[in-house]
Amino acid sequence: MAIQNDEFGPERVIEVYDQRTGMWGVLVIDNTARGPGKGGIRFVSDVNREEVFALARAMTWKNALADIPFGGAKAGIRGDPKTVNKEAFMRAFARRIKPFVPEFYIAGPDMNTTEREMAIVADEIGTPLASTGKPSSIGGLPHELGSTGFGVFCSTLVGAGFLNLDINKISVAIEGFGNVGTFTMKYLTEKEINVVAVSDSKGTVYNEKGLDFEQLLDTKVKKGTVTAYKDGKVLSAEDLFKLKVDVLIPGARPNVIHSKNVNDVKAQIIVEAANIPMEYETEKVLMKKGKLVIPDFVANAGGVISSYCEWRGYSEKEMFKIVEEKIVRNTQLVLDKTVSNDTRAAALQIAKERVIDAMEKRGWRSK
Ligand code: NAD
Repeated sequence: MAIQNDEFGPERVIEVYDQRTGMWGVLVIDNTARGPGKGGIRFVSDVNREEVFALARAMTWKNALADIPFGGAKAGIRGDPKTVNKEAFMRAFARRIKPFVPEFYIAGPDMNTTEREMAIVADEIGTPLASTGKPSSIGGLPHELGSTGFGVFCSTLVGAGFLNLDINKISVAIEGFGNVGTFTMKYLTEKEINVVAVSDSKGTVYNEKGLDFEQLLDTKVKKGTVTAYKDGKVLSAEDLFKLKVDVLIPGARPNVIHSKNVNDVKAQIIVEAANIPMEYETEKVLMKKGKLVIPDFVANAGGVISSYCEWRGYSEKEMFKIVEEKIVRNTQLVLDKTVSNDTRAAALQIAKERVIDAMEKRGWRSK
C-alpha cells in the first residue's frame, strides 16, 4: 500500500542506500509542528516504507499526547542484525540521514537497537543531540532505568482513583517480566499494591495473597522464568488474561487480547503497557462493558518522556519527576475528556488538537 499524504504529513520520506555495505534504510519524518521528529530506529530484515510511516504517525500522536516538544518520526534499517555487520550498517545509515539530524529527526532505540547503537549514531553524526537512549556514561538516560514501567504505575494509580478504588485493596496481574513488567511491579509493590500474577514466555505464576517482588526477581534471574517462583500456582501464559483481578496490565506482546478471549477478561481496569496489546475493535468490546481501558500511548509514554529529559540534559531524578507529572496529568485529562467510555478516541482527539494548534501557530494552516 502506498503512503498517503494527508493534512498532517508525512513531511519527508527518505530512502537511503550505502554502496559499500549494501545497507538500505528509510527515515519517515511525519510531522514537525511541535518539534523535531522523534522515534526509534528499527533494525529488522523485512522493514518497509509503509510500516515505518505507520509507526512515524503513531509517534506524532504519542509525543503530542505526552506533551513533549517533539514531532513524530521513525526509521528502519533492513537487515538481519545477527548476520550483517551491525555497526557498519548503523554508521552508514547515520551518515546518510545526517543532513536531517537533529534539526528534523532525533533517533532512539527500537527493535534490535539499544544504547550501543544510539552511542554509534551520536558518534557518527557528531553531536549527543542526534539520539536518546544513550549509555549513561555519555550522558544518556537508558531504558534500563525503568521510566516506562514507572509511568505505567503512575497511570494505573490515576485509573484506580478515577473509579474510586482503594489501592490497598486491589489486585493486579501483569503480563511480561521484562523491562516494562519488572519496573511496573517494582513501583506497584513499593506502594503496597497487591500484584497477584505475573507471566513470561514459560507461563504465569499466581498467588491470590500476592507475589514478593524481590523473590520473583531473584527467581527470574537465577532460574530464567517467573514460573519457578516457589510460593504460587503455575498457570499458562494465556490464563493470566482471564484471572479475577481488578487491574490487568498487558506488558509484553501485541494482540494478546482478541475476539476469542476478550469476554474472559474480568479486570475492571486494563492498563496497556505493551504496544497494541489488542486492536481498537477489541478495546471497544471492553469499553462497551464499562471497563476502563488506558490506551498504550497514554500509559507507556514514560520512555518518550525520558528521551525528552535526556535530550534536555536533565538528571535521572528530574526525569522521574517529569515522567510522573506528565503521565498523571495526561492520563487524568484523557479520562476527564472521555465520552461513551472510549478513552482511545479521547486520547487521539487531545493529541490531534495539540498538533493542529502548533500547525496553526506556525501558520501551516488557517484557523
Ligand atoms: P522486554 O524484551 O524487556 O520484555 C518482554 C517480556 O515479555 C519478557 O519478560 C518475556 O519473557 C515476556 N514474554 C515473551 N513472551 C511471552 C508470553 N508468551 N507471555 C508472557 N510474557 C511473554 O520488552 P519490554 O521493553 O519490557 O517491552 C514490552 C512491551 O512494551 C513491548 O510491546 C514494547 O514495545 C512496549 N514498550 C516498551 C517500552 C520500553 O521503554 N521498554 C516503551 C514503550 C513500550
